[in-house]
Amino acid sequence: MNIAIDGPAGAGKSTIAKRLAKDMGYIYVDTGAMYRAMALAAIRLGLDPADEEKISAAGGKADISIRYQDGEQQVVLDGENVNGHIRSEEVGNMASAISVYPQIRQKLVALQQRLAASADVVMDGRDIGTCVLPEAEVKVYLTASPQARAARRYQEIAAKGRVCDLADIQKDIEERDYRDMHRDASPLRQAKDAVYIDSSDMGIEEVVDAIRQICKGRQ
Ligand code: C5P
Repeated sequence: MNIAIDGPAGAGKSTIAKRLAKDMGYIYVDTGAMYRAMALAAIRLGLDPADEEKISAAGGKADISIRYQDGEQQVVLDGENVNGHIRSEEVGNMASAISVYPQIRQKLVALQQRLAASADVVMDGRDIGTCVLPEAEVKVYLTASPQARAARRYQEIAAKGRVCDLADIQKDIEERDYRDMHRDASPLRQAKDAVYIDSSDMGIEEVVDAIRQICKGRQ
């Protein structure tokens, strides 16, 4: 069985998907990390995110793969585990900018489909239910209000002892949502057969339980 979880930034997709995968003995596939690795490659080459030709060429050359160590997904870019380099806002914004390019998407979608064909997966992203795994047995569209998502992100950053501004974070989230929802290539959309969950007022356990119930009904 494959489980597809889509939704906007900060909805809690990765936390929920990881928990669910662990509980069910499935493999967790974080597709955003793959776009982030592509973005890191572009940043390291000093490329302009608006230059589709150069970005697509660099994406074509970049060797991206996934491996698992102690149950943790590692994204490998040209032989280097880049997990420690892809979580910054800079990389997230570059990922959102370059994920509009069809050549970048085609390459990563193929990698994601190969992974799902080889194991039971919980895969999260923006286009999993609509494009990557249209036949997934369970599809969830997980969202939360922009305020709730910004507040969660703020707490995450503050917990690391870094200074940040809540209004700036919310603006960033809203811009990223707009780009992800309005691009031509596989925009973020709820699949017709996806279950909609608004987690604004739900705890992690509650959301995981809700998805487990959906899975039980499909097994
Ligand atoms: O989920 P995460 O914030 O790590 O994703 C970074 C960016 O990668 C997103 O803003 C989105 O533009 C892009 N992305 C995508 N399709 C996916 C996963 C991520 O376009 N399946």
